[in-house]
Amino acid sequence: QKFKAGLEKTRNSFTSKVNDLVARYRKVDEDFFEELEELLLQADVGFETVMDLMDKLRYEVQRENIKDTNGIQSIISEKLVEIYESGEENLTDLNIQQDGDLTVILFVGVNGVGKTTTIGKLAHRLKSDGKSVMLAAGDTFRAGAIDQLQVWGERVGVEVIAQSEGSDPAAVMYDAIRAAKKRGVDILICDTAGRLQNKVNLMNELQKVHRVISREIPNAPHEVLLALDATTGQNALVQAQTFKEVTNVTGIVLTKLDGTAKGGIVLAIRNKLHIPVKFVGLGEKMDDLQPFDAERYVYGLFA
Ligand code: GDP
Repeated sequence: QKFKAGLEKTRNSFTSKVNDLVARYRKVDEDFFEELEELLLQADVGFETVMDLMDKLRYEVQRENIKDTNGIQSIISEKLVEIYESGEENLTDLNIQQDGDLTVILFVGVNGVGKTTTIGKLAHRLKSDGKSVMLAAGDTFRAGAIDQLQVWGERVGVEVIAQSEGSDPAAVMYDAIRAAKKRGVDILICDTAGRLQNKVNLMNELQKVHRVISREIPNAPHEVLLALDATTGQNALVQAQTFKEVTNVTGIVLTKLDGTAKGGIVLAIRNKLHIPVKFVGLGEKMDDLQPFDAERYVYGLFA
């Protein structure tokens, strides 16, 4: 239900346009394809994904000898899901350790994309699943970041390990891992600074944090989640590319999907970067974080 409501803007814009197109054309021809292509590009599905889809669609239309546009929506949905999933399984599962071993999740992303909020929401989600959670305030750079994480910690009811502003993020991680192990915590979620202005600094900082974490726990961090703001469209793709270059991103959380009519960006990210979207943010509240479900997403566009 939440998922559906969160997609309302994208759906309203996309569905009505596709339906309008279908009603206007009736016949599947080259003009129809071209307008459809344009429409998908407007929804930020991304050039390569759209081309891929159009190829698949043309092939299917020819193979099945489809003449009229009636019901073409379900074929579009089918092909979009096919493109998104492309043979991989368990795309949204987090790599959570078993047998009481500590799982470390590192969050990266540019300031303002909703990283802190997402950490709070994920902590709430994992706690609701019966896990014990701790947060590490690793963004020691941005004024207010530590306080903001602490507010979320209180709201959700999880402990936050923090030092003062300006301190070494790697030292915060070190403290946090020690504390998490001592308390027998299941999952430690670590915030990091989101400065993208200086790629070398960002890379150095993330690598140092990485090094400290994996020295304490050999195969950690178990997830590196990149928060991206869906409302920034193709800009989010550029950010993803940059973070992919500086760190081993294992999954994406696409925030503010409720605030955009260009939800097609999910498909573009998947197809272009081959990083799964694990969660989507659908609002500002604690339970507005949902696992991403490609099938429900794509079919939701036409619902
Ligand atoms: P950070 O700088 O990346 O840590 O960003 P914040 O967590 O402070 O979020 C920035 C703003 O985006 C805040 O006003 C959040 O309430 C808002 N926000 C975060 N996630 C979502 C979302 O999924 N939907 C909506 N509508 N707003 C969000």
